[in-house]
Amino acid sequence: MAKTELIGLSKEEIAQEIAKIGEKPFRAKQLWQWLYLKGVTDFDKMSNLSKELRAKLKENYSITRPKIVAEQISKDKTHKWLLEFSDGQRIETVYIPEEDRGAVCISTQVGCAVGCKFCHTGSQKITRNLTAGEIVSQFMVARDAYQEWPTPTDETRYLSNIVVMGMGEPLHNPENVVKALKILSDGEGIAISKRKITLSTSGIAPKIPLVATDIGVKLAISLHAPNNEKRSQIMPINDRYPLEEVMKACQEYQRLSGHNRFITFEYLMLKDFNDTPDDAHELIELMKKYKIGAKFNLIPFNPWPGCSYEPSSNNRVRAFSKLLEDAGYEAPIRVARGQDILAACGQLKSKKSLD
Ligand code: SAH
Ligand code: SF4
Repeated sequence: MAKTELIGLSKEEIAQEIAKIGEKPFRAKQLWQWLYLKGVTDFDKMSNLSKELRAKLKENYSITRPKIVAEQISKDKTHKWLLEFSDGQRIETVYIPEEDRGAVCISTQVGCAVGCKFCHTGSQKITRNLTAGEIVSQFMVARDAYQEWPTPTDETRYLSNIVVMGMGEPLHNPENVVKALKILSDGEGIAISKRKITLSTSGIAPKIPLVATDIGVKLAISLHAPNNEKRSQIMPINDRYPLEEVMKACQEYQRLSGHNRFITFEYLMLKDFNDTPDDAHELIELMKKYKIGAKFNLIPFNPWPGCSYEPSSNNRVRAFSKLLEDAGYEAPIRVARGQDILAACGQLKSKKSLD
C-alpha cells in the first residue's frame, strides 16, 4: 500500500491519522512538532516516540522533501533552488536575504495560466497546481539549507518572512495555498507570523476577500497600470476582472481585516508604457476614488530572454516615485535581487532556467 505523505497534512489531519493507527491524541502534537518545529525527516530521530510507534509510522507514512535538482547563489547572496516533485514537475524557490532577516519566495503552481506579457513564468503554460505539501516543503528546503531547525524562538532568524510571489497565481489554487499558509504560520511549528507573510495576486477579484477571512496574511496586488485599457494590454486577466472589481475586492479585504492592513500595489515600470507623470497622476486618482489604505512598490522590470519590454530609466522611476510620495503614498523602488541567476521577480521558470 502506498505510504501517506505527512508534509502538508493539517493539524486536524495529523490527529486523524494518529487516531487511525490507534495512538493517543497527544502523540499527534509530538509528531507535529517533529515535522514542523524540528524539521526532522527521519522517524528514528523522533526520540520521544516509542520504538513500536516509530516502526508503525515508518511502515505507513513518509516525510518527503522535493529533490534539489540545482541551486545557485547570486553575487548578492540571493539563493535559488530548482526543485523537483515526485511526478518530475519542477518549480523554483528563492531566498532573498536582507541584513538581519530575509524572505523566502515560494511558488504555488507549475507555470501560470494568467499569461502576463512581461512575465517569464507566464510565458510557460500552466501544468498543474502545487499541493499544500509541495508549497510548505519549499520553505522547509530553505530552512534545511540555513539550518534553522528547530524554529528559532527569537526574532533573529534569517528566514523571517514569506512572500507568495514565486511561480503561479496563488488565487488560482486557493485551497492548497490556504492550507499551506496555515501550516507555515502555526505557532507550534514553523511559526512565521501572519504579519510576515505576503500573498501577491494578479487580481482574481472574487477570491481576494479570502486572503483576509481564511488566512489573514498581507495582500499585494500586481497592478502595473493605472487604467483598464493599459492593464488589459499587458495582463489579459484584466478583461475578466477589470480594475473596478479588483479595487472593490481590495476594499472588502481591508474591511474584513479591520482596516488596519495596508495593501501593497506592485507597479512594474515599463519604458514609455506606464511610467510617465500622467500615468502617476491617473494612479493617484484611482487610489483616491476607492479610498484604499495603500502603499506602492515600484518594480524595475527584469528582462528575460525573448521578452519585448524594456525597463524604465532610473530618472523616470525616481520621478514617478516622488509624485506618489508627494500625494501621501509610500512608494519605494524595489531593488532587483538575484538578477544574475534569473532569480528576480518574473524571471522564474521550471525548465532550463539554470542552463
Ligand atoms: N502571480 C502572482 C504572484 C507571482 S508574480 C502575481 O502576479 O502577483 C510576483 C511579482 O513579480 C508580480 O508583481 C509580478 O507582476 C512581478 N513580475 C512578473 N514579471 C516580472 C518581470 N519580468 N520583472 C519584474 N517583476 C515581474
Ligand atoms: Fe502569473 Fe503572476 Fe507571472 Fe502574471 S505575473 S503570469 S499572474 S506568475
